Amino acid sequence: MQWRRSVIILVPFSFVLAVAAEGEIPVKTMTYAQAKQRVADRKLPEFWVGSVTGLADRFAKLQRGEVKTIAETPGGRPIHLVSFGEREQVRHRANFNSAVGAREPSAYLDKAARRKPVVLLIGPVHGHETEALTGLCNLISIMDTGRDLRGKDRTPLRRLGEQCRLLIIPAGNPDGIARFEPRALHGMGLADVRFWGQGTWADDTLCGWPQCKRQHPMKGENTGFLGCYFDDAGVNPMHDEFFAPLGPEAPAILAVARTEGPDLATSLHSHESAPTVLRPAYTTTEQQQAVRSLAEEYYALLEQRGLPHGGLPAVRAEGGEHPAPFNLTSAVYHVSGATSFTFECPHGIVSEKACQVSLEQILEIQLALYESMMRYALQKKAATE
Ligand SMILES: [Zn+2]
Repeated sequence: MQWRRSVIILVPFSFVLAVAAEGEIPVKTMTYAQAKQRVADRKLPEFWVGSVTGLADRFAKLQRGEVKTIAETPGGRPIHLVSFGEREQVRHRANFNSAVGAREPSAYLDKAARRKPVVLLIGPVHGHETEALTGLCNLISIMDTGRDLRGKDRTPLRRLGEQCRLLIIPAGNPDGIARFEPRALHGMGLADVRFWGQGTWADDTLCGWPQCKRQHPMKGENTGFLGCYFDDAGVNPMHDEFFAPLGPEAPAILAVARTEGPDLATSLHSHESAPTVLRPAYTTTEQQQAVRSLAEEYYALLEQRGLPHGGLPAVRAEGGEHPAPFNLTSAVYHVSGATSFTFECPHGIVSEKACQVSLEQILEIQLALYESMMRYALQKKAATE
């Protein structure tokens, strides 16, 4: 409460005006100086992790869990993998797609022979979506100490986590996160999401979504401020060229998936609306149904806790005028057989359609997702034994 009061006092008047005006006239251009001016002079709470500064020190202090650097970004920043629970060695004879072709998926990895389910949590590959960096750093604290970064006891969630092997990549795109100066979009407007997220062209026009995907990598004379979607070389890891990689982030994430063979995986993102589980494109209908079932359980948990949620993901074939892209989430399934999905968390921005949530509620939305994933993975494991 202390923090919220200080925000109200410190938000500059120009910022309030700019946000209020947005509903009527959409902001089309923004300079870096203007974007900086719109960032409220606020103190984010201690539990909020909106930066890559200090992450390595934070992980070096862990008493439990294993920390590995799995790649270095074009900006020279490490990508960490933090894992909890022993890795179980099981039979591996073929890569996943060959095993599927063999009509024996277990030839890839004998997942049924493992005692514990394996859950992969992929933190923001879009640098302005720090809701998941906060969520995952809190989960790491819970697995290490039993408490979240607010000091709240989370023993039940830790006990669930101890029954799984957890693979946590807290920051999927450290370059993008490092470029994200506001640390949180909470309380800001749609134009701020566009500036920091997708960036601008050389004439200060906001790139916007999905137009920001019409040039990839995002580099060259026509580009302005590089949005946090991208690493320092202009690569958006969600849409890397998976068969001939452009950047180091997506291949490192996929290497974790391929070698560990998770049962369940998610790529964590954020948007304007309520918490939503998305349909995993280019996966089997059975996989899509599994994601829908998990979403049903997750949404029920959110309702029980008085938290909002979006609609259920459909189960359908690909196609239509604008077919879904084969993205990082699809690729995770195709290298590891994991039930894989994209999650979108609310930023808590100020707009007509935005889902209104506090920073504390954002943390609860994240932790409830991890809890639902662990429960789902454990149920599935129990059902196959
Ligand atoms: Zn995203």
